[in-house]
Amino acid sequence: MIKKIALLGLLLAFLGCGERPADSGGHASATPEQTFKWKLVTTWPKNYPGLGEAPENFAKMVGEMSNGRLQVKVFGAGQMVPALEVFDAVSQGTAEMGHGAAYYWTGKIKAASFFTSVPFGLNAQEMNGWLHYGEGMALWREVYAPFNLVPFAAGNTGVQMAGWFNREINSLQDLQGLIMRIPGLGGEVFNRAGGEAVNIPGGELYTSMQTGVIDATEWVGPFNDLAFGLHQVAKYYYYPGWHEPGPTLELIVNKAAYDSLPKDLQQIVASAARAVNQDMLDEYTARNNTALEQLVNEHGVQVRRLPDDVLQELARISEQVKEEIAAEDPLFKKIYESQQAFQEQAAEYHNISEEAYFEARRLTD
Ligand code: CA
Repeated sequence: MIKKIALLGLLLAFLGCGERPADSGGHASATPEQTFKWKLVTTWPKNYPGLGEAPENFAKMVGEMSNGRLQVKVFGAGQMVPALEVFDAVSQGTAEMGHGAAYYWTGKIKAASFFTSVPFGLNAQEMNGWLHYGEGMALWREVYAPFNLVPFAAGNTGVQMAGWFNREINSLQDLQGLIMRIPGLGGEVFNRAGGEAVNIPGGELYTSMQTGVIDATEWVGPFNDLAFGLHQVAKYYYYPGWHEPGPTLELIVNKAAYDSLPKDLQQIVASAARAVNQDMLDEYTARNNTALEQLVNEHGVQVRRLPDDVLQELARISEQVKEEIAAEDPLFKKIYESQQAFQEQAAEYHNISEEAYFEARRLTD
């Protein structure tokens, strides 16, 4: 008897399970079989390693997870819109999605740098913590809402390199009058330190360096910089990337387009973004040093550390710039304070975990 009841229970459970997908499908949308064909514009050259692969991976994942119900076609910089018009194109609905970096839009939103990376700010691990378990994502959504955009974190490069220079940087004096491609808040700090910051899309860096339009450029790190051939136009490769310690790349979705998706497809977009967010960091961790060895051993690149006094001065100016902007921009202030508070508490534990461990590992080198 007990056996029979158990069997009946199993059978009912089985039937129940069998019915559930059809039920929730009906709930999720009035037209569950509707297929969406979307355009995704990017700030990267088509199929560019790492940064450009993230949106391609995202599109492939979304297509497979949705069984073809959400099809995303990826456009490289300039194929549909120029690199630095991605934000406007998605905001206006010319394309449903975009992939780039929030700090490219500091001309519109001063605080946008906090959603990519700020000088002497969070590293990748801390950034992901602030975004997904701190106040970061809620603030980001609030900041982008007036532009009709829904943001997601969709990639992180880890700590970047300080950049490519044609002269040695031995003191702050060597930065005077230097024209450097350095976007976001890092650029403002660089200006204050006596240089001249410009922003140029990645695809134009090589030519800009070669023709002398700029004297120096930061880009990402060995894996990405090797792909652009920047070693052919500059000799010195400086570290550490004080200006970009844990840059997040962004996926932006037009709000009206996002709202038109049934719940399950919205969840697929969110989950695929989260997956590529981690995937990029994994790939860079695996590939950066091989590329660095190639740059040094095959191309004779000179790797140099920025002097301590230069870093100290840049840190001092960074603090000053952040405080000054915060004093006149309430939104900037709110996000700055949130990120700063997160950084302080994360650093407290990281002092005795990540940092202490790296120190311990060096003892045995
Ligand atoms: Ca960079």
